[in-house]
Amino acid sequence: MTEVEILEKLRSVKPGPEAQDIVSAGMVSDIIIKDGSVMFSISVPADNAAAFEPLRAQAEQTVAALQGVEKAIVVLTAERKASSQSTASSSASQSGNGATDKTRAAASGASAPRAAQPQGAGKLEIAGVKQIIAVSSAKGGVGKSTTSVNLALALQANGKKVGILDADIYGPSIPRLLKITDKPTAVANSRRMNPINAYGLMAMSIGLLVDPDTPMVWRGPMAVSALSQMIRDVNWGMEGELDVLIVDMPPGTGDIQLTMAQQVPLSGSVIVSTPQDLALIDARKGIAMFRKVNIPILGIVENMSYFSCPTCGSRHDIFGHGGARATAEEIGVPFLGEIPLHMDIRERSDAGEPVVISEPESDHTAIYLSIASAMMKGINGAMKPAPAIIIE
Ligand code: ADP
Repeated sequence: MTEVEILEKLRSVKPGPEAQDIVSAGMVSDIIIKDGSVMFSISVPADNAAAFEPLRAQAEQTVAALQGVEKAIVVLTAERKASSQSTASSSASQSGNGATDKTRAAASGASAPRAAQPQGAGKLEIAGVKQIIAVSSAKGGVGKSTTSVNLALALQANGKKVGILDADIYGPSIPRLLKITDKPTAVANSRRMNPINAYGLMAMSIGLLVDPDTPMVWRGPMAVSALSQMIRDVNWGMEGELDVLIVDMPPGTGDIQLTMAQQVPLSGSVIVSTPQDLALIDARKGIAMFRKVNIPILGIVENMSYFSCPTCGSRHDIFGHGGARATAEEIGVPFLGEIPLHMDIRERSDAGEPVVISEPESDHTAIYLSIASAMMKGINGAMKPAPAIIIE
């Protein structure tokens, strides 16, 4: 199956009897072919994108009927004009209709970052969620997922309705951290999925959707497309609108992360780092990435900040003290707090019983609660209209 064959076949698909076919009209883009699956986008006008749903379905069926194609996924993409961006997220509703949701997506996950895209344009619209916070790190293994889970639970303890999305395609760990064994169910008559209720959190993970034993090799656009779909096609508001959705981002600052940051309407981002990395260029890269796309940085969390001795109970500043706070100040971002390296945090997390739930009265939980409050203060301060951005 080649791109040429697919385009040839799509020449039979037209928006109307008198209209030009979608290929000649230049509406087809971002064709990805992988293992019998074909994904592509159809560009449509933003003002009446919903009217193009039958066209999308027809294109999908046309390609799915081709020999050698097991599955076809077609998304509508529409570029909004800068002036209409303010309506982008306010019109989100919970129709539970996957098709309508698709057309609401202002740009598909499969599209590459576009030049000079104003903030708000090309963002996904996500129903059932008030605010989305990304938790990221410059590299894996710094405790990003452990921190995400405990912060989500801390926000919940502070009275918020919270969801968590595990977007870490390289090592999804939320199912283990929250002891999730159920598979997500489908919302009746739609292509959307219900999240799993784990300790009260509405949770979804890429790890629940793919075979954990299959190594995942994601090409950039495909990863972004899968993640965007996962965010958009989950019934986040299943048990009432979420105040906050925490997104456990894939580690690093490459194209996948950048495109996610551009397409997901993030209210802010939190960077998790260990003391060693903070002094290094790595953590600064993460900050630079979010700044580039005008996402407010709510602050840095220093994880495994000091060693808290389980035997003597005393604190050992193995990596020195105050460096992280100083670095945060130097680069002009808030410092949200320090989490010790402690056996209980690791053991509880790895047993699927995060400390905030299993040891609610502990010092560790107090730290997560305080970081969660600092984070929300940052969000409330950051809620101002963003200026236009230029991506070079
Ligand atoms: P990441 O998401 O950055 O890859 P994880 O959250 O999976 O990292 O953490 C990596 C390992 O470090 C896990 O075994 C986890 O239990 C452990 N860990 C994370 N934070 C702490 C901490 N503050 N104290 C002790 N162990 C921790």
